[in-house]
Amino acid sequence: MFLGHFGVALALKRAEPKLSLGTLFISVQLVDLLWGAFLLIGWERVRIDPGFTAVTPLQFIRYPITHSLVGTLAWALVGAAAYYSWPTRDTSRHWQASMVVGAAVFSHFWLDALVHLPDLTIAGEGTTALGLGLWRSLGATLATELLLFAAGIAIYVTWRSRRHPVRSGRLTGLVLFLLALFLASLFGPPPPDVTTIAVADIIGLLLLAAFAAWVDRPSLPGDL
Ligand SMILES: [Zn+2]
Repeated sequence: MFLGHFGVALALKRAEPKLSLGTLFISVQLVDLLWGAFLLIGWERVRIDPGFTAVTPLQFIRYPITHSLVGTLAWALVGAAAYYSWPTRDTSRHWQASMVVGAAVFSHFWLDALVHLPDLTIAGEGTTALGLGLWRSLGATLATELLLFAAGIAIYVTWRSRRHPVRSGRLTGLVLFLLALFLASLFGPPPPDVTTIAVADIIGLLLLAAFAAWVDRPSLPGDL
């Protein structure tokens, strides 16, 4: 899952407007960000096997720390606690905002479960594995990803306010950029090796979060 995660981030921005879209981009992709780091240090494993599914050439061999149900839940708690304890002067609705961060992190598992083959375990090897396997069909994958992304954009645009406006030009740039990345991942050549996947994953997700924070920055001087 790629675009769908960002759709959730865009929607959750309107559930808790004090959260930056950049924070939410990191939250919905926190376990993929950590997955990149764990691939580099060898704690999790993936294999590149072109044709493994109709959509992705990645065969996820072992990723219980980031992508098991229990693992993702633990990272959701870590994410919520990190947000809650982050030094800030604006502590209004702080508890609620932390819960939204946690929900954003946890949503990753359920969205991934739509597209992944049944390799998302409850608690690691030997436990039940979930995965609806939409990656077996290019059409079903495209429809699901685009629908979730479009719904997120619609919610983000509809529930704008004076204090939390939509910066149309910047948002359009972000949407087009994400669509281009998505199409490139679907129709481009498979990645050359696992190190490239991990490094591109980490740098890409961090840059996207910075882009989203810039898109979402309040436009009125003095606004929070
Ligand atoms: Zn994932």
